[in-house]
Amino acid sequence: MKRTNCGHWIDGIETSFDPQASFDVLNPLDDSLYARAARGTEDDIDAAVRAAHGAFADYADSPPGRRETWLIKSAELLERDAAEFEQVLVDEIGSPIQKAKYEVAAAIETLRAAAGIPRQVAGQSLPTGTAARLSISVRKPIGVIAGITPFNVPLIKAIKHSAMPLATGNTVVLLPSEEAPVIALRLAKLYAQAGFPNGAFNVVCGSGYDIGDPLVTHPHVRMVTFTGSTKVGNHIRGLCGKHGKRVTLEMGGKNALIVLADADVDAAVRAATFSSFMFQGQICMSASRIFVQRTIAQRFLQAFSRAASSLVMGDLRDPKTVIGPIINEKQRQRIDSHLQDAVDKGANVVIGGDWDGNCCRPTILTGVTDDMLIHHEETFGPVTCVSVVETSEDALAAANQTSFGLVASVFTADIDAALRFAQQLNVGMVHINGVTIQQEPHVPFGGVGDSGFGREGTNAAIEEMTEWKWITIDQSRRS
Ligand code: NAP
Repeated sequence: MKRTNCGHWIDGIETSFDPQASFDVLNPLDDSLYARAARGTEDDIDAAVRAAHGAFADYADSPPGRRETWLIKSAELLERDAAEFEQVLVDEIGSPIQKAKYEVAAAIETLRAAAGIPRQVAGQSLPTGTAARLSISVRKPIGVIAGITPFNVPLIKAIKHSAMPLATGNTVVLLPSEEAPVIALRLAKLYAQAGFPNGAFNVVCGSGYDIGDPLVTHPHVRMVTFTGSTKVGNHIRGLCGKHGKRVTLEMGGKNALIVLADADVDAAVRAATFSSFMFQGQICMSASRIFVQRTIAQRFLQAFSRAASSLVMGDLRDPKTVIGPIINEKQRQRIDSHLQDAVDKGANVVIGGDWDGNCCRPTILTGVTDDMLIHHEETFGPVTCVSVVETSEDALAAANQTSFGLVASVFTADIDAALRFAQQLNVGMVHINGVTIQQEPHVPFGGVGDSGFGREGTNAAIEEMTEWKWITIDQSRRS
Protein backbone atom coordinates (compact mmCIF):
# COMPACT_ATOMS: atom_id res chain seq x y z
CA MET A 1 0.00 0.00 0.00
CA LYS A 2 1.27 3.47 -0.88
CA ARG A 3 2.08 5.34 2.33
CA THR A 4 0.64 8.82 2.80
CA ASN A 5 2.69 11.79 4.00
CA CYS A 6 0.47 14.66 5.20
CA GLY A 7 1.48 18.27 5.49
CA HIS A 8 -0.78 20.93 6.98
CA TRP A 9 -3.40 22.68 4.84
CA ILE A 10 -2.92 26.42 5.13
CA ASP A 11 -4.35 29.12 2.86
CA GLY A 12 -5.37 26.69 0.14
CA ILE A 13 -2.18 24.63 -0.15
CA GLU A 14 -0.62 21.64 1.53
CA THR A 15 2.61 22.64 3.26
CA SER A 16 5.76 20.72 2.38
CA PHE A 17 6.37 17.57 4.40
CA ASP A 18 9.54 17.34 6.46
CA PRO A 19 10.17 13.79 7.76
CA GLN A 20 12.30 15.27 10.57
CA ALA A 21 9.27 17.14 11.91
CA SER A 22 6.62 14.48 11.59
CA PHE A 23 4.82 11.82 13.60
CA ASP A 24 3.68 8.30 12.76
CA VAL A 25 0.05 7.37 12.28
CA LEU A 26 -0.43 3.68 13.06
CA ASN A 27 -3.06 1.30 11.75
CA PRO A 28 -4.72 0.20 15.02
CA LEU A 29 -5.39 -3.32 13.75
CA ASP A 30 -1.71 -4.28 14.03
CA ASP A 31 0.07 -1.01 14.91
CA SER A 32 1.81 -0.99 11.50
CA LEU A 33 2.80 2.34 9.99
CA TYR A 34 -0.12 3.75 7.97
CA ALA A 35 0.98 7.34 7.36
CA ARG A 36 3.25 10.14 8.52
CA ALA A 37 1.96 13.60 9.29
CA ALA A 38 3.60 16.96 9.91
CA ARG A 39 4.06 17.73 13.60
CA GLY A 40 2.50 21.18 13.93
CA THR A 41 4.16 23.95 15.92
CA GLU A 42 2.93 27.20 17.41
CA ASP A 43 4.15 28.92 14.21
CA ASP A 44 1.99 26.62 12.07
CA ILE A 45 -1.01 27.45 14.24
CA ASP A 46 -0.27 31.15 13.87
CA ALA A 47 0.05 30.82 10.07
CA ALA A 48 -3.23 28.91 9.82
CA VAL A 49 -5.14 31.34 12.06
CA ARG A 50 -3.74 34.31 10.14
CA ALA A 51 -4.83 32.70 6.86
CA ALA A 52 -8.34 32.16 8.24
CA HIS A 53 -8.41 35.70 9.64
CA GLY A 54 -7.18 37.17 6.35
CA ALA A 55 -9.88 35.30 4.41
CA PHE A 56 -12.68 36.19 6.84
CA ALA A 57 -13.85 39.61 5.63
CA ASP A 58 -14.41 38.53 2.00
CA TYR A 59 -15.73 35.13 3.01
CA ALA A 60 -18.25 36.63 5.45
CA ASP A 61 -19.57 38.78 2.58
CA SER A 62 -19.92 35.86 0.16
CA PRO A 63 -23.53 35.54 -1.04
CA PRO A 64 -25.48 32.74 0.68
CA GLY A 65 -26.02 31.11 -2.71
CA ARG A 66 -22.25 30.71 -3.17
CA ARG A 67 -21.81 29.04 0.20
CA GLU A 68 -24.80 26.82 -0.54
CA THR A 69 -23.22 25.81 -3.88
CA TRP A 70 -19.83 25.04 -2.31
CA LEU A 71 -21.44 22.87 0.36
CA ILE A 72 -23.65 21.00 -2.12
CA LYS A 73 -20.62 20.46 -4.37
CA SER A 74 -18.69 19.11 -1.35
CA ALA A 75 -21.51 16.63 -0.67
CA GLU A 76 -21.44 15.54 -4.32
CA LEU A 77 -17.65 15.07 -4.28
CA LEU A 78 -17.83 13.08 -1.06
CA GLU A 79 -20.55 10.90 -2.56
CA ARG A 80 -18.37 10.38 -5.65
CA ASP A 81 -15.26 9.54 -3.59
CA ALA A 82 -17.06 7.68 -0.79
CA ALA A 83 -15.14 4.42 -1.29
CA GLU A 84 -11.79 6.20 -0.92
CA PHE A 85 -12.88 7.93 2.31
CA GLU A 86 -14.22 4.62 3.67
CA GLN A 87 -10.86 2.95 3.09
CA VAL A 88 -9.07 5.73 5.01
CA LEU A 89 -11.47 5.23 7.93
CA VAL A 90 -10.75 1.48 7.89
CA ASP A 91 -6.95 1.83 7.93
CA GLU A 92 -6.45 5.03 9.89
CA ILE A 93 -8.74 4.41 12.86
CA GLY A 94 -9.74 0.73 12.56
CA SER A 95 -13.35 1.24 11.46
CA PRO A 96 -15.15 -1.91 10.40
CA ILE A 97 -16.38 -1.22 6.85
CA GLN A 98 -20.02 -1.08 8.08
CA LYS A 99 -19.16 1.77 10.44
CA ALA A 100 -17.03 3.50 7.78
CA LYS A 101 -19.97 3.42 5.34
CA TYR A 102 -22.33 4.74 8.01
CA GLU A 103 -19.87 7.54 8.80
CA VAL A 104 -19.40 8.64 5.19
CA ALA A 105 -23.18 8.58 4.59
CA ALA A 106 -23.76 10.68 7.73
CA ALA A 107 -21.04 13.10 6.65
CA ILE A 108 -22.69 13.58 3.23
CA GLU A 109 -26.03 14.20 4.94
CA THR A 110 -24.38 16.77 7.22
CA LEU A 111 -22.95 18.68 4.24
CA ARG A 112 -26.38 18.73 2.58
CA ALA A 113 -28.04 19.94 5.79
CA ALA A 114 -25.36 22.64 6.17
CA ALA A 115 -26.09 23.80 2.61
CA GLY A 116 -29.56 24.78 3.84
CA ILE A 117 -28.14 27.13 6.49
CA PRO A 118 -26.83 30.16 4.54
CA ARG A 119 -30.30 31.31 3.43
CA GLN A 120 -31.66 30.85 6.98
CA VAL A 121 -29.27 33.28 8.69
CA ALA A 122 -31.98 35.90 9.10
CA GLY A 123 -32.50 38.94 11.30
CA GLN A 124 -35.60 40.61 12.74
CA SER A 125 -37.51 43.83 12.49
CA LEU A 126 -38.19 45.05 16.00
CA PRO A 127 -40.91 47.17 17.62
CA THR A 128 -39.64 50.61 18.52
CA GLY A 129 -40.79 53.40 20.84
CA THR A 130 -40.43 56.07 18.17
CA ALA A 131 -42.77 55.96 15.20
CA ALA A 132 -40.25 57.54 12.83
CA ARG A 133 -37.58 54.99 13.46
CA LEU A 134 -36.90 51.62 11.89
CA SER A 135 -35.28 49.14 14.24
CA ILE A 136 -33.81 45.92 12.93
CA SER A 137 -31.34 43.27 14.02
CA VAL A 138 -29.02 41.32 11.77
CA ARG A 139 -26.87 38.28 12.42
CA LYS A 140 -23.15 38.56 11.60
CA PRO A 141 -20.62 35.72 11.41
CA ILE A 142 -18.15 36.00 14.25
CA GLY A 143 -14.75 35.33 12.63
CA VAL A 144 -12.22 32.53 12.95
CA ILE A 145 -13.59 29.39 14.61
CA ALA A 146 -11.15 26.73 15.85
CA GLY A 147 -12.44 23.15 15.60
CA ILE A 148 -10.83 20.40 17.68
CA THR A 149 -11.97 16.86 16.85
CA PRO A 150 -11.58 13.32 18.27
CA PHE A 151 -10.37 10.10 16.66
CA ASN A 152 -13.55 8.04 16.72
CA VAL A 153 -15.79 9.68 14.11
CA PRO A 154 -13.14 11.90 12.52
CA LEU A 155 -14.98 12.56 9.26
CA ILE A 156 -18.39 13.32 10.76
CA LYS A 157 -16.80 15.60 13.32
CA ALA A 158 -14.37 17.33 10.93
CA ILE A 159 -17.38 18.09 8.73
CA LYS A 160 -19.66 19.19 11.58
CA HIS A 161 -16.89 21.43 12.91
CA SER A 162 -16.28 22.99 9.48
CA ALA A 163 -19.50 22.86 7.43
CA MET A 164 -21.56 24.63 10.13
CA PRO A 165 -19.07 27.52 10.61
CA LEU A 166 -18.51 27.83 6.84
CA ALA A 167 -22.27 27.83 6.22
CA THR A 168 -22.75 30.70 8.68
CA GLY A 169 -19.97 32.79 7.07
CA ASN A 170 -17.09 32.04 9.43
CA THR A 171 -13.63 30.69 8.57
CA VAL A 172 -12.06 27.66 10.22
CA VAL A 173 -8.84 26.21 11.59
CA LEU A 174 -9.18 22.50 12.36
CA LEU A 175 -6.93 20.59 14.74
CA PRO A 176 -7.81 16.94 14.05
CA SER A 177 -6.96 14.09 16.40
CA GLU A 178 -3.35 12.97 16.19
CA GLU A 179 -4.80 9.54 15.32
CA ALA A 180 -6.67 10.84 12.26
CA PRO A 181 -4.85 13.54 10.26
CA VAL A 182 -5.15 11.78 6.87
CA ILE A 183 -8.94 12.01 6.68
CA ALA A 184 -8.79 15.70 7.69
CA LEU A 185 -6.25 16.52 4.95
CA ARG A 186 -8.34 14.65 2.38
CA LEU A 187 -11.36 16.74 3.44
CA ALA A 188 -9.36 19.96 2.99
CA LYS A 189 -8.57 18.94 -0.59
CA LEU A 190 -12.22 18.11 -1.22
CA TYR A 191 -13.35 21.54 0.04
CA ALA A 192 -10.78 23.21 -2.23
CA GLN A 193 -12.06 21.20 -5.20
CA ALA A 194 -15.62 22.20 -4.30
CA GLY A 195 -14.62 25.85 -4.67
CA PHE A 196 -14.20 27.17 -1.12
CA PRO A 197 -11.78 30.12 -1.28
CA ASN A 198 -8.23 29.86 0.04
CA GLY A 199 -7.99 30.41 3.78
CA ALA A 200 -11.63 29.53 4.49
CA PHE A 201 -10.68 26.10 5.82
CA ASN A 202 -7.27 25.23 7.27
CA VAL A 203 -5.89 22.15 8.98
CA VAL A 204 -2.92 21.89 11.33
CA CYS A 205 -1.86 18.34 12.23
CA GLY A 206 -0.05 17.52 15.43
CA SER A 207 -0.38 16.89 19.13
CA GLY A 208 -3.28 18.61 20.83
CA TYR A 209 -1.25 18.62 24.02
CA ASP A 210 1.47 20.73 22.30
CA ILE A 211 -0.51 23.04 20.02
CA GLY A 212 -4.03 23.01 21.49
CA ASP A 213 -3.43 25.90 23.86
CA PRO A 214 -1.81 28.21 21.24
CA LEU A 215 -4.80 27.57 18.99
CA VAL A 216 -7.46 28.12 21.65
CA THR A 217 -5.81 31.27 23.01
CA HIS A 218 -4.80 32.81 19.66
CA PRO A 219 -6.07 36.42 19.66
CA HIS A 220 -7.75 36.01 16.24
CA VAL A 221 -9.72 32.91 17.29
CA ARG A 222 -13.20 34.05 18.34
CA MET A 223 -14.77 30.68 19.12
CA VAL A 224 -13.72 27.09 19.83
CA THR A 225 -15.85 24.06 18.96
CA PHE A 226 -14.48 20.98 20.70
CA THR A 227 -15.39 17.30 20.60
CA GLY A 228 -13.40 14.91 22.75
CA SER A 229 -12.90 13.75 26.30
CA THR A 230 -14.30 15.55 29.32
CA LYS A 231 -10.81 16.09 30.74
CA VAL A 232 -9.54 17.98 27.68
CA GLY A 233 -12.91 19.70 27.18
CA ASN A 234 -12.88 21.12 30.69
CA HIS A 235 -9.33 22.38 30.17
CA ILE A 236 -10.49 24.17 27.00
CA ARG A 237 -13.59 25.53 28.77
CA GLY A 238 -11.27 27.13 31.36
CA LEU A 239 -9.04 28.71 28.72
CA CYS A 240 -12.02 30.03 26.76
CA GLY A 241 -13.50 31.58 29.89
CA LYS A 242 -10.20 33.23 30.74
CA HIS A 243 -9.60 34.53 27.20
CA GLY A 244 -13.20 35.51 26.43
CA LYS A 245 -13.90 33.05 23.61
CA ARG A 246 -17.20 31.46 22.75
CA VAL A 247 -17.09 27.70 23.19
CA THR A 248 -19.15 24.59 22.54
CA LEU A 249 -18.08 21.28 24.06
CA GLU A 250 -19.19 17.79 23.04
CA MET A 251 -17.60 15.47 25.58
CA GLY A 252 -17.80 11.96 27.01
CA GLY A 253 -20.72 9.86 28.16
CA LYS A 254 -21.69 7.13 30.64
CA ASN A 255 -24.97 6.43 28.92
CA ALA A 256 -27.83 4.42 30.36
CA LEU A 257 -30.17 2.05 28.55
CA ILE A 258 -33.16 1.19 30.75
CA VAL A 259 -35.34 -1.86 30.20
CA LEU A 260 -38.60 -1.79 32.18
CA ALA A 261 -40.59 -4.92 33.03
CA ASP A 262 -43.18 -4.37 30.28
CA ALA A 263 -40.59 -3.79 27.49
CA ASP A 264 -40.30 -5.74 24.27
CA VAL A 265 -37.27 -7.75 25.44
CA ASP A 266 -36.14 -8.81 21.96
CA ALA A 267 -36.12 -5.20 20.77
CA ALA A 268 -34.26 -4.14 23.93
CA VAL A 269 -31.63 -6.86 23.37
CA ARG A 270 -31.08 -5.78 19.75
CA ALA A 271 -30.77 -2.16 20.87
CA ALA A 272 -28.43 -2.98 23.77
CA THR A 273 -26.17 -5.00 21.44
CA PHE A 274 -25.91 -2.22 18.87
CA SER A 275 -25.63 0.56 21.46
CA SER A 276 -22.93 -1.16 23.53
CA PHE A 277 -20.74 -2.60 20.80
CA MET A 278 -20.95 -0.54 17.61
CA PHE A 279 -17.38 0.48 16.68
CA GLN A 280 -16.23 -1.61 19.66
CA GLY A 281 -17.83 0.82 22.13
CA GLN A 282 -15.72 3.79 21.00
CA ILE A 283 -18.72 6.08 20.51
CA CYS A 284 -19.62 8.91 22.89
CA MET A 285 -23.24 7.66 22.83
CA SER A 286 -22.37 4.01 23.61
CA ALA A 287 -24.56 2.38 26.25
CA SER A 288 -22.18 1.47 29.06
CA ARG A 289 -24.79 1.11 31.83
CA ILE A 290 -27.85 -1.09 31.34
CA PHE A 291 -30.57 -1.18 34.00
CA VAL A 292 -33.13 -4.00 33.79
CA GLN A 293 -36.13 -4.66 36.01
CA ARG A 294 -35.82 -7.89 37.96
CA THR A 295 -38.80 -9.79 36.47
CA ILE A 296 -37.19 -9.85 33.00
CA ALA A 297 -33.53 -9.55 34.01
CA GLN A 298 -32.52 -13.18 33.55
CA ARG A 299 -34.21 -13.49 30.15
CA PHE A 300 -32.64 -10.22 29.02
CA LEU A 301 -29.14 -11.11 30.21
CA GLN A 302 -29.18 -14.54 28.56
CA ALA A 303 -30.37 -13.17 25.21
CA PHE A 304 -28.03 -10.17 25.39
CA SER A 305 -25.01 -12.39 26.16
CA ARG A 306 -25.90 -14.67 23.23
CA ALA A 307 -26.26 -11.71 20.85
CA ALA A 308 -23.03 -10.06 22.01
CA SER A 309 -21.02 -13.30 21.79
CA SER A 310 -22.09 -13.79 18.20
CA LEU A 311 -20.75 -10.41 16.98
CA VAL A 312 -18.13 -10.88 14.28
CA MET A 313 -14.66 -9.62 15.17
CA GLY A 314 -11.54 -9.08 13.06
CA ASP A 315 -11.52 -8.59 9.26
CA LEU A 316 -12.43 -4.92 8.94
CA ARG A 317 -13.34 -5.22 5.26
CA ASP A 318 -15.88 -7.98 5.89
CA PRO A 319 -19.33 -6.30 6.00
CA LYS A 320 -20.36 -8.68 8.80
CA THR A 321 -17.59 -7.45 11.14
CA VAL A 322 -18.77 -5.31 14.06
CA ILE A 323 -15.80 -5.45 16.43
CA GLY A 324 -12.48 -3.97 15.30
CA PRO A 325 -9.37 -2.86 17.16
CA ILE A 326 -9.04 -0.34 19.99
CA ILE A 327 -7.37 2.81 18.76
CA ASN A 328 -4.04 2.81 20.65
CA GLU A 329 -2.06 1.24 23.47
CA LYS A 330 -3.04 3.90 26.01
CA GLN A 331 -6.72 3.26 25.38
CA ARG A 332 -6.23 -0.53 25.49
CA GLN A 333 -4.59 -0.17 28.88
CA ARG A 334 -7.46 1.99 30.09
CA ILE A 335 -9.97 -0.73 29.18
CA ASP A 336 -7.84 -3.38 30.90
CA SER A 337 -7.42 -1.27 34.02
CA HIS A 338 -11.18 -0.69 34.27
CA LEU A 339 -11.84 -4.43 33.88
CA GLN A 340 -9.16 -5.42 36.37
CA ASP A 341 -10.37 -2.88 38.93
CA ALA A 342 -13.97 -4.10 38.57
CA VAL A 343 -13.02 -7.77 38.89
CA ASP A 344 -10.75 -7.05 41.89
CA LYS A 345 -13.68 -5.36 43.59
CA GLY A 346 -16.10 -8.22 42.94
CA ALA A 347 -17.74 -7.68 39.51
CA ASN A 348 -18.68 -10.77 37.43
CA VAL A 349 -17.53 -11.10 33.83
CA VAL A 350 -20.55 -12.67 32.11
CA ILE A 351 -18.88 -12.78 28.68
CA GLY A 352 -15.66 -11.40 27.17
CA GLY A 353 -12.92 -9.62 29.07
CA ASP A 354 -10.20 -11.02 26.82
CA TRP A 355 -8.42 -9.89 23.67
CA ASP A 356 -7.54 -11.15 20.22
CA GLY A 357 -4.59 -8.94 19.21
CA ASN A 358 -5.75 -5.34 19.54
CA CYS A 359 -9.45 -6.31 19.54
CA CYS A 360 -11.23 -6.65 22.88
CA ARG A 361 -14.10 -9.14 22.86
CA PRO A 362 -17.58 -7.80 23.67
CA THR A 363 -17.70 -7.78 27.45
CA ILE A 364 -20.68 -7.78 29.82
CA LEU A 365 -20.23 -7.24 33.54
CA THR A 366 -22.71 -7.68 36.37
CA GLY A 367 -22.33 -6.90 40.06
CA VAL A 368 -20.81 -3.46 39.40
CA THR A 369 -20.74 -1.23 42.48
CA ASP A 370 -20.16 2.48 42.89
CA ASP A 371 -16.60 2.07 44.20
CA MET A 372 -15.46 0.73 40.81
CA LEU A 373 -13.83 2.96 38.18
CA ILE A 374 -16.10 1.50 35.52
CA HIS A 375 -19.13 2.71 37.45
CA HIS A 376 -18.36 6.39 36.96
CA GLU A 377 -15.58 6.76 34.35
CA GLU A 378 -15.98 6.45 30.58
CA THR A 379 -14.24 3.23 29.44
CA PHE A 380 -14.58 3.83 25.68
CA GLY A 381 -14.40 0.16 24.73
CA PRO A 382 -16.73 -2.81 24.13
CA VAL A 383 -17.60 -3.17 27.80
CA THR A 384 -21.03 -2.67 29.35
CA CYS A 385 -22.45 -3.21 32.82
CA VAL A 386 -25.87 -4.77 33.44
CA SER A 387 -27.54 -3.96 36.76
CA VAL A 388 -30.82 -5.35 38.08
CA VAL A 389 -33.31 -2.85 39.54
CA GLU A 390 -36.56 -3.49 41.38
CA THR A 391 -38.77 -0.59 40.29
CA SER A 392 -38.86 2.03 37.54
CA GLU A 393 -38.07 4.67 40.21
CA ASP A 394 -34.91 2.72 41.07
CA ALA A 395 -33.98 2.65 37.37
CA LEU A 396 -34.43 6.41 37.04
CA ALA A 397 -32.41 7.13 40.19
CA ALA A 398 -29.60 4.77 39.13
CA ALA A 399 -29.46 6.20 35.59
CA ASN A 400 -29.12 9.72 37.01
CA GLN A 401 -26.32 8.70 39.37
CA THR A 402 -23.52 10.09 37.18
CA SER A 403 -21.87 13.40 36.45
CA PHE A 404 -22.25 12.72 32.69
CA GLY A 405 -25.44 13.59 30.83
CA LEU A 406 -25.23 12.84 27.13
CA VAL A 407 -27.98 10.39 26.13
CA ALA A 408 -30.25 7.68 27.51
CA SER A 409 -32.69 5.13 26.11
CA VAL A 410 -35.71 3.68 27.82
CA PHE A 411 -37.60 0.57 26.72
CA THR A 412 -41.21 0.29 27.88
CA ALA A 413 -44.72 -0.22 26.51
CA ASP A 414 -46.10 2.43 28.88
CA ILE A 415 -46.15 5.85 27.24
CA ASP A 416 -46.67 7.63 30.58
CA ALA A 417 -43.58 5.95 32.05
CA ALA A 418 -41.61 6.72 28.87
CA LEU A 419 -42.49 10.41 29.00
CA ARG A 420 -41.71 10.59 32.72
CA PHE A 421 -38.24 9.21 31.99
CA ALA A 422 -37.83 11.59 29.05
CA GLN A 423 -38.56 14.53 31.35
CA GLN A 424 -36.57 13.38 34.37
CA LEU A 425 -33.39 11.85 32.95
CA ASN A 426 -30.53 14.35 33.37
CA VAL A 427 -29.27 14.11 29.80
CA GLY A 428 -29.34 16.16 26.61
CA MET A 429 -30.99 13.44 24.48
CA VAL A 430 -33.52 10.66 25.27
CA HIS A 431 -34.67 7.90 22.94
CA ILE A 432 -37.77 5.86 23.74
CA ASN A 433 -37.65 2.26 22.50
CA GLY A 434 -34.60 3.15 20.39
CA VAL A 435 -30.83 2.79 20.42
CA THR A 436 -28.62 5.28 22.29
CA ILE A 437 -26.49 5.94 19.18
CA GLN A 438 -28.50 8.33 17.06
CA GLN A 439 -27.57 11.58 15.38
CA GLU A 440 -28.99 13.81 12.67
CA PRO A 441 -27.43 17.04 11.48
CA HIS A 442 -30.44 19.29 12.15
CA VAL A 443 -31.26 18.23 15.74
CA PRO A 444 -29.93 19.98 18.86
CA PHE A 445 -27.21 17.41 19.54
CA GLY A 446 -25.32 17.51 22.82
CA GLY A 447 -25.21 16.81 26.51
CA VAL A 448 -25.32 18.35 29.96
CA GLY A 449 -22.98 18.17 32.96
CA ASP A 450 -19.67 16.51 32.16
CA SER A 451 -20.96 15.59 28.67
CA GLY A 452 -21.25 18.98 27.12
CA PHE A 453 -21.92 22.65 26.86
CA GLY A 454 -23.87 24.14 23.94
CA ARG A 455 -25.34 22.21 21.05
CA GLU A 456 -24.47 21.07 17.53
CA GLY A 457 -27.01 21.23 14.70
CA THR A 458 -28.20 23.51 11.93
CA ASN A 459 -30.33 25.84 14.10
CA ALA A 460 -27.76 25.59 16.89
CA ALA A 461 -25.03 26.68 14.44
CA ILE A 462 -26.97 29.82 13.56
CA GLU A 463 -27.39 30.59 17.27
CA GLU A 464 -23.85 29.75 18.38
CA MET A 465 -21.80 30.93 15.38
CA THR A 466 -23.32 34.33 14.63
CA GLU A 467 -23.73 37.44 16.71
CA TRP A 468 -26.53 39.94 16.71
CA LYS A 469 -26.11 43.52 15.59
CA TRP A 470 -28.90 46.03 16.31
CA ILE A 471 -29.39 48.75 13.67
CA THR A 472 -31.76 51.71 13.72
CA ILE A 473 -32.67 54.19 11.00
CA ASP A 474 -34.02 57.46 12.34
CA GLN A 475 -36.40 59.03 9.81
CA SER A 476 -37.68 61.93 11.95
CA ARG A 477 -35.18 64.53 10.66
CA ARG A 478 -36.33 64.02 7.08
CA SER A 479 -39.89 65.24 7.75
P1 NAP B 1 -9.29 13.54 23.43
O1 NAP B 1 -8.12 12.77 23.86
O2 NAP B 1 -9.95 14.45 24.39
O3 NAP B 1 -8.86 14.34 22.12
C1 NAP B 1 -9.77 15.16 21.42
C2 NAP B 1 -9.01 16.23 20.66
O4 NAP B 1 -8.45 17.14 21.59
C3 NAP B 1 -7.83 15.66 19.85
O5 NAP B 1 -7.70 16.37 18.67
C4 NAP B 1 -6.68 15.92 20.78
O6 NAP B 1 -5.43 15.96 20.14
C5 NAP B 1 -7.06 17.29 21.31
N1 NAP B 1 -6.35 17.71 22.51
C6 NAP B 1 -5.67 16.97 23.41
N2 NAP B 1 -5.14 17.76 24.37
C7 NAP B 1 -5.48 19.03 24.06
C8 NAP B 1 -5.24 20.31 24.65
N3 NAP B 1 -4.52 20.44 25.78
N4 NAP B 1 -5.77 21.40 24.06
C9 NAP B 1 -6.51 21.29 22.93
N5 NAP B 1 -6.75 20.11 22.32
C10 NAP B 1 -6.26 19.00 22.88
O7 NAP B 1 -10.45 12.55 22.88
P2 NAP B 1 -10.30 11.30 21.90
O8 NAP B 1 -9.67 10.18 22.64
O9 NAP B 1 -9.74 11.72 20.59
O10 NAP B 1 -11.85 10.97 21.64
C11 NAP B 1 -12.62 10.21 22.53
C12 NAP B 1 -13.46 11.12 23.42
O11 NAP B 1 -14.28 11.98 22.62
C13 NAP B 1 -14.42 10.32 24.28
O12 NAP B 1 -14.45 10.89 25.57
C14 NAP B 1 -15.77 10.50 23.58
O13 NAP B 1 -16.88 10.34 24.42
C15 NAP B 1 -15.63 11.91 23.09
N6 NAP B 1 -16.55 12.17 21.98
C16 NAP B 1 -17.64 12.94 22.22
C17 NAP B 1 -18.56 13.15 21.21
C18 NAP B 1 -19.79 13.98 21.45
O14 NAP B 1 -20.40 14.41 20.47
N7 NAP B 1 -20.18 14.24 22.68
C19 NAP B 1 -18.36 12.59 19.94
C20 NAP B 1 -17.21 11.83 19.73
C21 NAP B 1 -16.30 11.62 20.76
P3 NAP B 1 -4.48 14.63 20.20
O15 NAP B 1 -5.18 13.60 19.38
O16 NAP B 1 -3.21 15.10 19.60
O17 NAP B 1 -4.36 14.26 21.64
